Amino acid sequence: MIQITMPLGFLGTVYREIRQSLVDMGEMFELLDQPREVADRPGAPALKVSGGAVAFDRVVFGYDPARPILHGISLAVGAGEKVALVGPSGSGKSTIGRLLFRFYDVSEGAIRIDGQDIRDVAQDTLHAAIGVVPQDTVLFNDTIRYNIAYGREEATEDEIVAAAKAAQIHDFIAALPEGYDTTVGERGLKLSGGEKQRVGIARTLLKDPPILLLDEATSALDTETEAEIQGALRRAGQGRTVLTIAHRLSTVADADRIVVLEAGRVVEEGTHAALLARQGRYAQLWARQQAEHAA
Ligand code: ADP
Ligand code: MG
Repeated sequence: MIQITMPLGFLGTVYREIRQSLVDMGEMFELLDQPREVADRPGAPALKVSGGAVAFDRVVFGYDPARPILHGISLAVGAGEKVALVGPSGSGKSTIGRLLFRFYDVSEGAIRIDGQDIRDVAQDTLHAAIGVVPQDTVLFNDTIRYNIAYGREEATEDEIVAAAKAAQIHDFIAALPEGYDTTVGERGLKLSGGEKQRVGIARTLLKDPPILLLDEATSALDTETEAEIQGALRRAGQGRTVLTIAHRLSTVADADRIVVLEAGRVVEEGTHAALLARQGRYAQLWARQQAEHAA
């Protein structure tokens, strides 16, 4: 008996771990479509998060050192602050997200979370502190409860419901005849793109990360779905530091601060209203997007 069940139990664990790492890698592909290149220093301590303040201090970086992409980026996001990064395609927005995750090390300058250089802390604790909301959530053919709790199997029912409420998907689930026991995925109830994304937000929130990193979907959701997602993300961000990498300006107008990047440099910074009044790069980008929407 033991000879049979032990290997099977072991295989189950391995299978779960492999599947988990595949999904996590899959989820990170949008944001981080690169293999990890950096290793922990021996005995690196855990990141200690107090408020979740993020600071880029004169960061220089290039995927190829001969071709710098970021030319001395300084960017401070206070604990609990909501900052949106905007700028033309190729300006370095997603690169900033990858560096915060430490998929690469900076060539000059430093990135700090609550004062700790991210090169000095254990990467698993860095990753645990940053919740990434993927653009496309992978659902398993299993219950909606399982799908939300995925990656935190020990979560209690109360925690799952609280995460679903914060992601604004609880009412939808509660109205299903089988509620949280409803099977979803290819062989169950098919969820819309917006519903899937809110399940993804709930999954991220269940990990309760002090920092949220959102790399906004470039694909256009319909207006109603977009409004739902924005509402869910706004609520999800309460009490957390939020860095949004935005491709559309319409979704960032209410950020505490907007940072405008161009060719790897911060060229403007301020609230939506202040930046419009400045009539600079942001105002130009805004006018262009308004014209595209009207067209
Ligand atoms: P954004 O998100 O603002 O569109 P990115 O950060 O994705 O911009 O890209 C910034 C620059 O870095 C671009 O010139 C892009 O071609 C380059 N780049 C992005 N990823 C890689 C990579 N893995 N290897 C080499 N260059 C890259
Ligand atoms: Mg990008």
